[in-house]
Amino acid sequence: MNVRALARVNLAAVERNCARLTRASPRLCAVVKADGYGHGAVPCARAALASGASSLAVAAADEVAELRAAGIAAPIIMMGPVTPAELERVLAAEAEVVAWSEPFLDWVLACGGGRVHVKLDSGMGRLGTRDGALADRLVARVANSPELELAGAMTHFATADDPSDGFFDQQLERFSAWVTPLRERYPGLLVHAENSAALLGAQHARFDMARCGVALYGLDPFGQDAGERGLEPALELRSWVATLKPCAVGESAGYGRRFIATEPTELAVLPIGYGDGVRRALSGNADVLIDGARRPLVGTISMDSLTVDLGPDSGVRVGREAVLIGADGSERVSAEEIARRIDTINYEITCGLTRRVPREYHRDGLVLAT
Ligand SMILES: *Cc1c(COP(=O)(O)O)cnc(C)c1O
Repeated sequence: MNVRALARVNLAAVERNCARLTRASPRLCAVVKADGYGHGAVPCARAALASGASSLAVAAADEVAELRAAGIAAPIIMMGPVTPAELERVLAAEAEVVAWSEPFLDWVLACGGGRVHVKLDSGMGRLGTRDGALADRLVARVANSPELELAGAMTHFATADDPSDGFFDQQLERFSAWVTPLRERYPGLLVHAENSAALLGAQHARFDMARCGVALYGLDPFGQDAGERGLEPALELRSWVATLKPCAVGESAGYGRRFIATEPTELAVLPIGYGDGVRRALSGNADVLIDGARRPLVGTISMDSLTVDLGPDSGVRVGREAVLIGADGSERVSAEEIARRIDTINYEITCGLTRRVPREYHRDGLVLAT
């Protein structure tokens, strides 16, 4: 290690995941919002486009700007709501926008027009209109305005990650009932709905394009084992043993003395903490891999460091690498495991890695220049 902490991202894994997803949906929109779920939006977007994705999606105006500044010319869907000021920038960058109201179309026209997807809220209860008649009027207005181009008709599922939830089929039915007549009226209309979970878990929900994020990065949309679904985790998080500390009975480690040794042991201090995105809620509730063995975190995670209990006579030396997410020998700590420990989802674990952690890109071990 030549830095305190490092996230290594295997772009070859992103490419293989993308190829796996395009077998399920030949037309794929790679979702690279939130800096590619923490993996780096630009390199992951390039990897996805090189391995079959035909477009990208983001949720913030700055995310559009970042992709365009990197020279990426592929279609970008800006999925989120935008302020009027953001809209001008987003349209100037030739991103496609998502509409669910008449005033929004007025804004788009005031900016000179653009490519527009119309969104039905079939049950997510977030963006989109629940009013099918309004959605129809929006589609007609977009299709009939010379300054506007009808880029697609879409919805988003709320429960695709829970195959036992019947609400998914209700949403599917509502959306299908809306798009079926639209398809007749607008031949060639691009209809899209599936996220990663729907694409991998609901074979009966198939439209013209899937919008996949989490699976692209080799994270399991169901919070289970990504490998069993043919996905490869692309991100590893590593730090190193910066110092070793013998700890006698009664001695403590960290803020609040939440760890007090009951037997003589040795602690390793790693220079990574919640300032890097290792959530403080994991204090005393996670394992780190050192020399191929699981070692428990003990004490309170600090902003800049954390402590690991090595036990007596571990043989671990200063300078050894420590794996917080990833594999070491036959052991593996997945983002899913970490998420489960603190009752959240793998998405939040990788998104939460902060800018302080440099990202290193490689293809199956061959480090790439950045
Ligand atoms: C984030 C997002 C996606 C991608 O979802 P994953 O579960 O990461 O595949 C698709 N569509 C919309 C509207 C989103 O906000």
